[in-house]
Amino acid sequence: MARAKKEYTVYLIKVEGEKCNGCGQCVDLCPVDVFEVKEGRSVPLDPQNCLGCGTCVAVCTTEAIIITEI
Ligand code: SF4
Ligand code: SF4
Repeated sequence: MARAKKEYTVYLIKVEGEKCNGCGQCVDLCPVDVFEVKEGRSVPLDPQNCLGCGTCVAVCTTEAIIITEI
C-alpha cells in the first residue's frame, strides 16, 4: 500500500528592524514562540516553528513583519 505523501509549508519571516519598536506583541502572541526581543528589536529566532497563522502580522502596529510562504 502506498503511503500518503506528507506536505509541509515553510514560511520565511522577516522583521524590518528599522520599523520595529520592540513592543513585544509578536513575542507574546505567537503561539509557537518564534520571536524574541533582543536589543529593542524583535528577532525571529525559531522561524521553522511558524504555522503561518498571521497573528504576528495582524498585531504589529508598525507593519514590521513580513511572512512569505516558500
Ligand atoms: S509587534 Fe512589531 S513592533 Fe512589536 S516587537 Fe513585534 S515586530 Fe516589533
Ligand atoms: S504567523 Fe503565527 S506562527 Fe508564524 S510567526 Fe507569526 S504568530 Fe507565529
